Amino acid sequence: MRLAVCSLFALSFASHADRLPQQAVDTVEVPEIIISGRDSDSKPLPYYRIAPDVYFLYANIAEVDGKNRGFNGNAGFVVTDEGVVVIDSLGTPKLGRRLIVTVRKVTDKPIRYLILTHNHPDHSYGAVAFRRLPGIRIVGHVGTLEYLGSDNLPASVAFRRRILGADMKGFEGVEPDILVGGEIYSHYDFTLGGKTFAVYNADHHHSFGDLVVHQVEDRVLWISDLAFNNRSTFMGDGHSGAALEAIDWMRKTFPDTRLMIPGHGSAQTPPFPMVEKTYSYIQRLRDEMGAAVEAGQDLESAVRLSDFADWHATPLYHENHKKNANFIYREMEQEIYFGK
Ligand SMILES: [Zn+2]
Repeated sequence: MRLAVCSLFALSFASHADRLPQQAVDTVEVPEIIISGRDSDSKPLPYYRIAPDVYFLYANIAEVDGKNRGFNGNAGFVVTDEGVVVIDSLGTPKLGRRLIVTVRKVTDKPIRYLILTHNHPDHSYGAVAFRRLPGIRIVGHVGTLEYLGSDNLPASVAFRRRILGADMKGFEGVEPDILVGGEIYSHYDFTLGGKTFAVYNADHHHSFGDLVVHQVEDRVLWISDLAFNNRSTFMGDGHSGAALEAIDWMRKTFPDTRLMIPGHGSAQTPPFPMVEKTYSYIQRLRDEMGAAVEAGQDLESAVRLSDFADWHATPLYHENHKKNANFIYREMEQEIYFGK
């Protein structure tokens, strides 16, 4: 049975300057949503209803800047009879507050859970706004604790304060109430309003710890940054080998998925071309950098020469590719000389 994919959408919350694709599923069109520092906290954000109870905030495809103000990672929420489950919190405390207001436009049911798929700022820096909601339970990867104690946090907070100013006011690192960890690919399940949410430990393929959320009865899979759509991937503090393993695991474990929702780019229906595209990019770069290491080519020239011409038109290729090559070269060096 095919999922009835809705793309009803709340034009009224977009301002004139915004450019919003007609739909947020299976499209290569990307949104341009301008966020103003002067916008009130009570102004909802544009959202799409992409399945009967599933709402999606399709974010800008960009690095954080003064125009998107941290609205450059997707978020979404699921409405059940007993309350709402929010997946990811957007990139600043201010956007977190606006996400709560957006949920309020759809339903007055309480927000019962916030699941943080990983700790990168564009997904998690709005979490502090949710911390204050009565009765909420925040679910995160056990790697969150390591992230909160790392040097990455103060550095990225300082950077965002510099470019986003007051939008970062009130920022605090948020410790989840429920930590998902243990064995790789094990899961923590909860049920709300007759819907089961299985939250999987998908290893640290992209960050200090990554989660995949399976909305079991609806066969909707929130994959976070396990595959990127409408943009190139970014390897910063994850692991490329773990990313390929996790994609293999995902393909085997959820063959009946009807709708996949990534952390960047539009949602997708089968056969999920974004998954293959992300996989082949990572594999190709591992092969290329591995060959460079084997041939004794130094890091600098291997990175300089790396160029995937067929990716040039893909958003964020030019920003990310050399960084990815640099990261993967060093991984391959470790793997080849020291066996991982
Ligand atoms: Zn991301």
